[in-house]
Amino acid sequence: MSRSMLKFLIFDLDETLYPRGAGLMQEIGVRINRYLIENLQLPADQAQELRKRYYNQHGTALRGLVVERPDVDPEAYLHYVHDLRLADYIGPQPALGDMLRSIPLTKVIFTNATVEHARNVLNVIGIADQFADIIDVRRVGYVSKPDPRAYEQLLDIIGARGDECILIEDAVRNLLPAKALGMTTILVDSDDCAEVDYCVPDILAVKDVIEREMERRRDGETEG
Ligand SMILES: [Mg+2]
Repeated sequence: MSRSMLKFLIFDLDETLYPRGAGLMQEIGVRINRYLIENLQLPADQAQELRKRYYNQHGTALRGLVVERPDVDPEAYLHYVHDLRLADYIGPQPALGDMLRSIPLTKVIFTNATVEHARNVLNVIGIADQFADIIDVRRVGYVSKPDPRAYEQLLDIIGARGDECILIEDAVRNLLPAKALGMTTILVDSDDCAEVDYCVPDILAVKDVIEREMERRRDGETEG
């Protein structure tokens, strides 16, 4: 069976390009709760519950607000929750830069956050120059992963078919719609490997897997 060429390496941002232990997403979670408490006038326990329901039902708190609370300005929300000092949580990762440089595919970021947050994170890590594009939540019309419509828009924007792409994510539920569209899926830092193509302990380990996948496709071609 002949297989298509790989062209795009698509990365989730948060807790994929830096480890969960950095604590950055935890702090963003605290700010999401605080936003809901202050802007929807909710007690803390109800804000926490609402955030959980939005996450389960809509993918993200942002998507929940967009769908259920047209009175809330999504831009004000996004600015508020990402307004923190990144250098307190993450730092330069030269080894990651070297790894990205060594992989001959076009790299893009696909994030439920904003392009501003993504640029700030990439700058602190020192890998901003490695990415051809950042597809943020605005560019897919405030639709959040894992809604399949977000992935369809992503493919449209970069001009690719699913089977030309690898998606790298720390959340298994965000990989499943990608797999359904034909993308090769790599899960970082999780044991929940049953439904994805590859599982790796950390981001630096994706290089081997990507090389294996590229080889697999080359072999597929020669076999006709
Ligand atoms: Mg993530």
